[in-house]
Amino acid sequence: MKNIAVIGSGTMGNGIAHVFAQCGYNVSLIDISADALNKAIATISKNLDRQVAKGTLKEEDKVNTLKNITTFTEMAKGVNGCELVIEAATENPEIKFKLFRDLDAMCPEGVILASNTSSISLTKIGAQTKRSDKVIGMHFMNPVPVMKLVEVIRGYNTSDEVTKTIMDLSKNLGKIPVEVNDYPGFVANRILMPMINEAIYALFEGVGGVEEIDTVMKLGMAHPMGPLQLADFIGLDVCLYIMRVLHDGLGNPKYAPCPLLVNMVTAGKLGVKSGEGFYVYTAGSKDLVVAPSFR
Ligand code: NAD
Repeated sequence: MKNIAVIGSGTMGNGIAHVFAQCGYNVSLIDISADALNKAIATISKNLDRQVAKGTLKEEDKVNTLKNITTFTEMAKGVNGCELVIEAATENPEIKFKLFRDLDAMCPEGVILASNTSSISLTKIGAQTKRSDKVIGMHFMNPVPVMKLVEVIRGYNTSDEVTKTIMDLSKNLGKIPVEVNDYPGFVANRILMPMINEAIYALFEGVGGVEEIDTVMKLGMAHPMGPLQLADFIGLDVCLYIMRVLHDGLGNPKYAPCPLLVNMVTAGKLGVKSGEGFYVYTAGSKDLVVAPSFR
């Protein structure tokens, strides 16, 4: 495999393109937004500069990595000649289902179609195509160039051969792939999101304050970041969306999203991306300051 396409050039798409390009693959980076593509190239360039400054990458490898990426706003042109497509577009089932129907129509039979979805069923995504044996989850973690894990998710019909190809490919990228099956939240979010939701319940019920809850989990469980800070980093809207996937998909009341999480999302307090969640985020400041509502 030499030629791959990445669809969606946001937070994850630019990281995935970065890692493949640095490993010598030709990458077509595709987005409906030309602005998003420009920002993605600027982000990749900045992240490569950081690697050069740290001494983990040579200047010439930075140049070669950037040369390996071509951007497209037209999907049919971008996927032409690719052996693997990794979809990393917005987490919305309708967007992803349409993308997979279109990809199935425009890519030759042998092309593997992967998705970086955090929570949407790979079996449902596969059902949009006539090649559900070649549809698979390739769930990278954020930030992609730094995080080692790739959660490889087998849809109900994904073949052994395709799974092996993606496991081997992930290893070639210097990642550690872990194979899991397609149930709501897979493994990562099945375990992480209920923990975050429980931390929000602990705050909601007054068991502890924001800093107390995060400090207990950081110092007591050796987590690098407390669950409330992590929720802010992921985005509270994303956390709520995934809790709803778990609640709907598994039908167990233990997955009901905490009412405080629902209220915060409704009020537009989405964490880092909106400037306020459990903490407030001021551009240029690295200080972690608890949001006024929780002081
Ligand atoms: P993002 O919002 O940063 O980027 C999404 C990009 O997709 C945007 O640039 C948008 O223009 C583009 N897009 C939307 N519809 C498109 C289409 N039809 N064709 C081409 N491009 C299209 O989102 P993100 O955070 O990078 O998430 C992407 C995927 O990765 C989601 O499925 C998400 O669940 C998953 N994911 C996210 C994280 C995370 O921490 N952000 C972690 C793991 C997995």
